[in-house]
Amino acid sequence: MTNSCVISAGEMFADGTMIELVSGSSGLNKPDLLLWNGSRATVGRRVERGGCIYEAPELAPSLSRAIRLPSRSRSYDSARSLFAAMTELFQHHLDLPSRESNLLACFAIGTWLADCLPTAPSLAISGPEPELGVDLLRLLSCVCRHSLMLAEVTAGSFRSLPMHLSPTLLLNQQELKPNLQRLFRASSHRGQHLLGNKGSLVDLYGPKAIFCGSDAVGDALSGGVIHVAVTPSHLHLSTLEEQVQNEIANSFQPRLLMYRLKNLRNVHKSQVDVSTFSFESRQLARTLALCFPEDLGLANDVVQLLRPQDEEVRGQHSRDVTCTVIEILWAIAHQGKQRTVRVDELAKDVNVLLQNRGETLVYSPEHIGWKLKSLNIPRHSSSSGRQILLDRNTNQAVHRFARAYDLACTQVEEVGCPDCDQARAAISK
Ligand SMILES: [Zn+2]
Repeated sequence: MTNSCVISAGEMFADGTMIELVSGSSGLNKPDLLLWNGSRATVGRRVERGGCIYEAPELAPSLSRAIRLPSRSRSYDSARSLFAAMTELFQHHLDLPSRESNLLACFAIGTWLADCLPTAPSLAISGPEPELGVDLLRLLSCVCRHSLMLAEVTAGSFRSLPMHLSPTLLLNQQELKPNLQRLFRASSHRGQHLLGNKGSLVDLYGPKAIFCGSDAVGDALSGGVIHVAVTPSHLHLSTLEEQVQNEIANSFQPRLLMYRLKNLRNVHKSQVDVSTFSFESRQLARTLALCFPEDLGLANDVVQLLRPQDEEVRGQHSRDVTCTVIEILWAIAHQGKQRTVRVDELAKDVNVLLQNRGETLVYSPEHIGWKLKSLNIPRHSSSSGRQILLDRNTNQAVHRFARAYDLACTQVEEVGCPDCDQARAAISK
């Protein structure tokens, strides 16, 4: 009987068996496969499991040269020691501060578990010095899973990437056009397919890091992304020659592959409380915590690295038009003097508050009307124009939004408000 042969770039079976790509010994453009049975790894050009023979796909020569694969797997001491060694890499080679180095290590470890995480780890790197940015991408390429460095990707070329190899994309972009930003955001969520050529579907889910010279990259990609700003240092001299990169990769890739083999099935186990983060940062915090299932203490420490970034997000709330609308309605509702609010009056108040906070944009009553629509707050016509009825439904919508975004107004204890009473009762349960 001949066994059937399957061309595969990686498999994960229900019994814990896994198949992984490793760099080939054949000298051809064909990787080898590593078969993990839950405790032991074997490597070969072909591996057998359950009567099936598996073989890696042949890669285009240019792709074969560009993508980095581990050569094998090797045991590591502990998650914490591996994390510390990776942090040290960024400090030593690029002279980056410890928080930034920690975050970079965290992103790199996350790339090894990305296929089991709810959202793909994404990293936005900004900084004025292109050389430093490129060196950082090079160093990341030594420690990320199936890393692929690319420059100036367009929205069109993004759809034709070799996603079947589950690459970690390390992108060097002069600027980030809006259509690419949208693709970027969509591809960090699992199961969101994009249309490819001739009716085919493309799954672009996977980890990505972007270096973009302008600071706008972080803002453009918002709260679900790890932000790292790299500033030039007098100690950094570009020394990341190819030989150094290969040495680093040879040292770390086998240990990181073992980290993946041991932890991939356990990512859901990490129970870290992320409720104190803003709505926008919460998912990212949860994703980072999930990357350390074997060390809950480390997961907790890593999540705290996002605090400064989360403070930025909260600062942006105070200049955000939707948050400001809610803040004003919250105040009026709790004063209890008005049953209705005219939309043009609301727009006036919103603009005054935003100007006081340094915002230069001015919003029309129509614009405020659209915001209210998106918040599910109905407007009614009256003799004096469009207005909102501050009934129970509106008040509930205002409370829900204010609490979801943890707006500053919710910190004040409001007595005699049924919605605030309800929230307090839910917390003390
Ligand atoms: Zn209330």
